[in-house]
Amino acid sequence: MKAEEIKTIAIIGAGDMGHGIAELCALGGLKVHLYDIKEEFVARGRNRIKESLEKQVSKQKLAAGAMTSALDAIQGFTELGKAVQGIDFMIEAAPEVLDLKTRIFKEADAHAPKHAILASNTSNMSITQMGAATKRPGQVVGVHFFNPVMLMALVEIIRGSGTSAETMETGFQLMARMKNFRGAMVPVRVEKDTPGFIYNRLGAPIGLYMAELYERGLVEPEAVDAKIRSIGAPMGPYEIMDFTGLDVNLHGNEYFAQTLSPEFKPRGWMKRLVAEGKLGKKTGAGIFAWPGGNRPAIDLKKADPNFDVTDIICLQVNEGTKLLEAGVTHSAAEIDKAVINGGGAAFGPFALAKGMGWAKVATQCEAISKRLGIQWFMPTETLRKGAIEI
Ligand code: NAD
Repeated sequence: MKAEEIKTIAIIGAGDMGHGIAELCALGGLKVHLYDIKEEFVARGRNRIKESLEKQVSKQKLAAGAMTSALDAIQGFTELGKAVQGIDFMIEAAPEVLDLKTRIFKEADAHAPKHAILASNTSNMSITQMGAATKRPGQVVGVHFFNPVMLMALVEIIRGSGTSAETMETGFQLMARMKNFRGAMVPVRVEKDTPGFIYNRLGAPIGLYMAELYERGLVEPEAVDAKIRSIGAPMGPYEIMDFTGLDVNLHGNEYFAQTLSPEFKPRGWMKRLVAEGKLGKKTGAGIFAWPGGNRPAIDLKKADPNFDVTDIICLQVNEGTKLLEAGVTHSAAEIDKAVINGGGAAFGPFALAKGMGWAKVATQCEAISKRLGIQWFMPTETLRKGAIEI
């Protein structure tokens, strides 16, 4: 089915992501079936949408009529079988538990119209496995948003091994016509179901690098963050870890340790902080203190003169070339597009590193790898040969 024929969408799970996706789709003119396991969770999701839209109306960024139409377009459900009746598309945003997700896909498959496409907002789990739980694997696809949905433009459209070309195209075109509060959504194709897809995968080596440097006492988080802030980044990497939650980072590292390389295993400092309940922003303390949930005071004068910010760019480029080699995406420009729109960077790593020359990027990755004894950072063949077009 074509994207323009899609009129009704079911959003499964009305939490942080689900309510944002429902808001986006309702504003985009779709009829939304918002499902959660309890009436109170549906109501909470709907209230969050209402508050968010009201804020836009009070700032005169949204017409009151558009808010009313969007709210009227959302109907709540607590029975999955009913929520998927009469839909054209579904986006599942339930907790990140594979068993739960495959159960949802199985049940949705049994009750949704034959033509409907079933999508998951999973951060990491296998679209292929979700497809296999249904009798329509060709119509199962990943549609991965970033938090908060109404502010982050990137949405990754992920091909499971059974996903048809038509389903990929429909998912892509549906998202291309959506707009959040900042402007048009930016869909990026992920041609293979791979750990971290594109955006989170490019973050993986940075997380590993920062975790290792801190573990070995080679850096002070405040000094690194001050250095990175000094070149215009809104947040340094350690503050981002605290902001996301050290528990979330720990799970991410465990997942990459299982799927990519044991070198990603969570470092001791992170395990200690999580065990002490110091999870970052949400608990008021993590790597930094977050008094009352407010941002940590980073003294920009403490910027570490020895920390080379191009290390981060080099490691990201190297990771990107692994995605190119694996056929996850066919273009370095698409990787840059994902990085820019998923995190608000002004430039992507390939555009930034091009001026350094690929040979220097490869040498720098090799030096980091040897210095820390981390094999994962060794440059790929593609990077060594400079076989990159941008
Ligand atoms: P959340 O905990 O805020 O929301 C999950 C919602 O699912 C809750 O409202 C919960 O009541 C509901 N739920 C529980 N059991 C359910 C079931 N059996 N069927 C349907 N709904 C059920 O979680 P979230 O952060 O919105 O994450 C949802 C999904 O989105 C996860 O797969 C997560 O990995 C992914 N994701 C999260 C982020 C993020 O930054 N939070 C970003 C991208 C993707």
